[in-house]
Amino acid sequence: MSSQEKLNFIQTELEELKEKGLYKDIKTLEGPQGAWVQIKGKKMLNFCSNNYLGFANHSQIVEAAKKAIDEYGVGPGAVRTIAGTMDIHHQLERKLAEFKGVEAALSVQSGFKANLSAIPALVGKGDTIISDELNHASIIDGSRLSRADIKVYSHNDVDSLESVLKENPPGKKLIITDGVFSMDGDIAPLPEIVEVAKKYDAMTMVDDAHGEGVLGRSGRGIVDHFNLHGEVDIEIGTFSKALGVMGGCIAGSAQLIEYIRQKSRPFTFSSALTVPDTAATLEAIKILSDSDELVTKLWDNADYFKKGIKELGFDTGESETPITPVMIGDAKAASEFSEKLFEENIFAQAIGFPLVPHGKARIRAMISAAHSKEDLDFALEKFSKVGKELNLI
Ligand SMILES: *Cc1c(COP(=O)(O)O)cnc(C)c1O
Repeated sequence: MSSQEKLNFIQTELEELKEKGLYKDIKTLEGPQGAWVQIKGKKMLNFCSNNYLGFANHSQIVEAAKKAIDEYGVGPGAVRTIAGTMDIHHQLERKLAEFKGVEAALSVQSGFKANLSAIPALVGKGDTIISDELNHASIIDGSRLSRADIKVYSHNDVDSLESVLKENPPGKKLIITDGVFSMDGDIAPLPEIVEVAKKYDAMTMVDDAHGEGVLGRSGRGIVDHFNLHGEVDIEIGTFSKALGVMGGCIAGSAQLIEYIRQKSRPFTFSSALTVPDTAATLEAIKILSDSDELVTKLWDNADYFKKGIKELGFDTGESETPITPVMIGDAKAASEFSEKLFEENIFAQAIGFPLVPHGKARIRAMISAAHSKEDLDFALEKFSKVGKELNLI
């Protein structure tokens, strides 16, 4: 085999992806994230970002990051256990804990890392993770990394969860669920999950990546939404969605957080969150703590768009949140829909396998408080036009 031949599989597999309509065409933004973005010189209405509250380019948050850079520089300089913990990390963690109504919180470099940090610290070989079938990739990877046995239950199905627990799986038991499911926008039945967990002495963990800044009072998240304070053992969060920045967190009892700080490998072997990320996230939490105005606007916008899109004859699946799947079915048809929307100045990504099952491809419209009613009307008009062109409505 020549040195080139051994790499032939790469080209073959890339071509296969293209044939199946699963090839990702990654767009480049020429400027800030916002309701409108610039792509290839064109102004596009943005339906693709998780920037639910418009915080990614919020002037007060940008200013807070700049001020922190003047004061602290940009980098933490080391892993946190050696010399990378700054007082702004502690300020952020105290504010996060207060906001979420927990004893303590720990910041890490991303939501993905939060799962890789927490899960393998809590369970290992001989223990059992019981995981919703639609959980996020970072939960799946964190679970695999732990080497615990992984049992999967049917999506949001508490009877299916209980049937796994009834078999009395070995070791410590950890139930993990997304709070809001990112592809369908449905919400985990957390009160019932907590109830079942108590009955079988299982730990509970919720990844609230799409719930923070969206659900609960002023965006305090899923635990607040269901008024389950003190009932969920481990909360995972991200700073990259509604909070508009980058980073992740683990939240819970003071003892749990101390345990993660001692045991987590990404915490011990990967450097702290950067100064601007830390300061910007802290400012985002302060804004939410002071006012629910943006969260209210987000929900108004989501309700308005969802009502309009349903009136056009589209199906939005199981969505209960601002994540609005516009179901298409076939992956190729969904890509075509997305391309036609793009020609009409709407940036709305088609989502296909492996992010969603085969045959359930969709356009996922991510609604933001940054959108105006005129923006949403413009989008509804274009969805209608393209839907008719493709004989979908
Ligand atoms: C987006 C997401 C993550 C990853 O968060 P990052 O901060 O972008 O790494 C983790 N879990 C869930 C459920 C998510 O939706």
